[in-house]
Amino acid sequence: MTAENNWSSAEKSHTCGALRLHHAGERVRLAGWVHRRRAQGGLIFLDLRDRWGITQVVADKELAAEAHAAAQESRPEYVLAVGGTVRQRPAGTENEDLATGAVDVVAEEIQILNAARTPPLYITREVGEDEGLRMKYRYLDLRRARLQRNLEIRHRAIKFIRDYLSERGFLEIETPILFKTTPEGARDFLVPSRMQAGKFYALPQSPQQLKQLLMVAGVERYFQIARCFRDEDLRGQRQPEFTQLDLEISFVQREDVMSLNEALMLALVAAVAPERKVQQQPIPRMRYAEAMERYGTDRPDVRYDLCAEDISDIAGKSGFRVFVENAAAGKPVKCIRAPAMAAQMSGTLLRKVTAEWEEQVRAVGGKGLAWLALPEEESGEIRGPIGKFFTVEQKLALFDRMKAAPGDLLFLISDEREVVQRIVDALRPQLAAQLGLIDEDTLAFVWVIDFPQFHWDEETQRWEPSQHMFTMPLPEDLPLLRSDPGAARGSQYDLVCNGHEVAGGSIRIHDRALQEEIFPLIGLTMEEANQQFGHMVEAFEYGAPPHGGIAWGLDRVVALLAGEPNIREVIAFPKTQTGSDLMASAPSPAQEEQLKELHIRLSAAAERELQREGAVDGRQPIEEAGSGAGH
Ligand code: ASP
Repeated sequence: MTAENNWSSAEKSHTCGALRLHHAGERVRLAGWVHRRRAQGGLIFLDLRDRWGITQVVADKELAAEAHAAAQESRPEYVLAVGGTVRQRPAGTENEDLATGAVDVVAEEIQILNAARTPPLYITREVGEDEGLRMKYRYLDLRRARLQRNLEIRHRAIKFIRDYLSERGFLEIETPILFKTTPEGARDFLVPSRMQAGKFYALPQSPQQLKQLLMVAGVERYFQIARCFRDEDLRGQRQPEFTQLDLEISFVQREDVMSLNEALMLALVAAVAPERKVQQQPIPRMRYAEAMERYGTDRPDVRYDLCAEDISDIAGKSGFRVFVENAAAGKPVKCIRAPAMAAQMSGTLLRKVTAEWEEQVRAVGGKGLAWLALPEEESGEIRGPIGKFFTVEQKLALFDRMKAAPGDLLFLISDEREVVQRIVDALRPQLAAQLGLIDEDTLAFVWVIDFPQFHWDEETQRWEPSQHMFTMPLPEDLPLLRSDPGAARGSQYDLVCNGHEVAGGSIRIHDRALQEEIFPLIGLTMEEANQQFGHMVEAFEYGAPPHGGIAWGLDRVVALLAGEPNIREVIAFPKTQTGSDLMASAPSPAQEEQLKELHIRLSAAAERELQREGAVDGRQPIEEAGSGAGH
């Protein structure tokens, strides 16, 4: 064997996605995993896979007995190095589904670099197994084409963003992970200090303070692909750690930040996911108040209409007591039009379907759901239990307001304003799905602006910032901070896409006095504020430039680019709903020694729980431990 034919080297001459017809006759060296294997007489066909694709390898007993024997021994997911010659596939055996499908490689040597146990997941299939299994064997799950593609899309997106911002004068700057509380409305993850007994770092919920301090430092244009940590119950798709594109700019107004981000987002989609249609450019804007009234949420999915229209003026004059009383009390009556939903439904079916929707309404706290079904023909009857309470004129006014058409189903909702909003928010996406109105290839961006600066929190009986405590109120609303904080609007802007918040930011307060006005409003005493944020307000006294910024939920953006419904599919090693990493079993108990060094003793309840799980044995719960135990 000559040196160049030394196939025992695992080095590749080509990837498994590279070979085409024009390579026919070339001697090549491939390496990868056995994707599939099938035997046919004296031939064994191996689909050899690497990150770049799949190439068919043929081992012919007649031509290369040893290679054939190795192929014979190989099983799915074995790691092989293959040396051979590229050949045009015999006519009729080409595979159009494979980029390499015009050729195969006739093996001269096959070396098994590593064997593999039968994998607990089918790498050849897209999905199938339960999430737990996927998470436990994430390194196998990640071998699948779909997830490999997602990792690549993520890489390309991040690279695009880095290049785009770098070209525009931004500096990428890392900020510390071990820091002090940087609240964004969630609980902090704390890290005990070994060197300073009894003290803790907080992992940043975002780099908010640090990026603002970088503005004070004169950086002017900052960005970071930043990891953020929020210890909250993992409702929906949240992850305890997630990634933001974080950026901040000095000497800007709201418009500047929005237009830079809009341009970046649209360029990113065009570069990384050109197959996705952007519904509307420039990106439309919507006031918070309109979003809440018509969509019931500040994250409206504008791919479809199904908006709630206020019909209080019409319904308030009908004969339906609930509507009349509610309208008189200032509680809204709203209507959603489901196009053609009643068409071709029998009376029985219609009652069944509407009863199901009423269940959905009750699930979010509503009392009921009234409806009217328009006939398909002019001569037909209007169906629905509340029809009789509306005069002909009132019905006509309602149909006119709703732009109703034959066969439409109208849902009428009335309750406290917040309940109506919840109902609208719950019904819209479900109705849209049922009516087939959701185009998965479309990206429907919308900017939501003019948020209230604060929301009143009934539980804590105080104002909570809608965004965070560093958001600047709209200049014209500044006087309201003192007279009517609930009416003040903030300079916040959120970018929403397909019903997800993909980015959010604001112009910041850069003035000590103003920042100090916010603290008491949100229930911080000056002492607490000084303890936690003294460094911020102090910095504002040393020439802080006006500044503003934004952060993107990068996992969500990548998921939208990749067409993945769940952000877990675009994170290499995500955590489960209980915040666990099932592969490495994290979190896990610490050694008693480690706890001691960290000046930590576990509660009796925690110890009992660990012992019940069999996670530790023989530790003394503190109650039973002598007073000298621990440190
Ligand atoms: N720090 C904010 C967040 O995490 C974003 C920003 O205001 O820039 O939502």
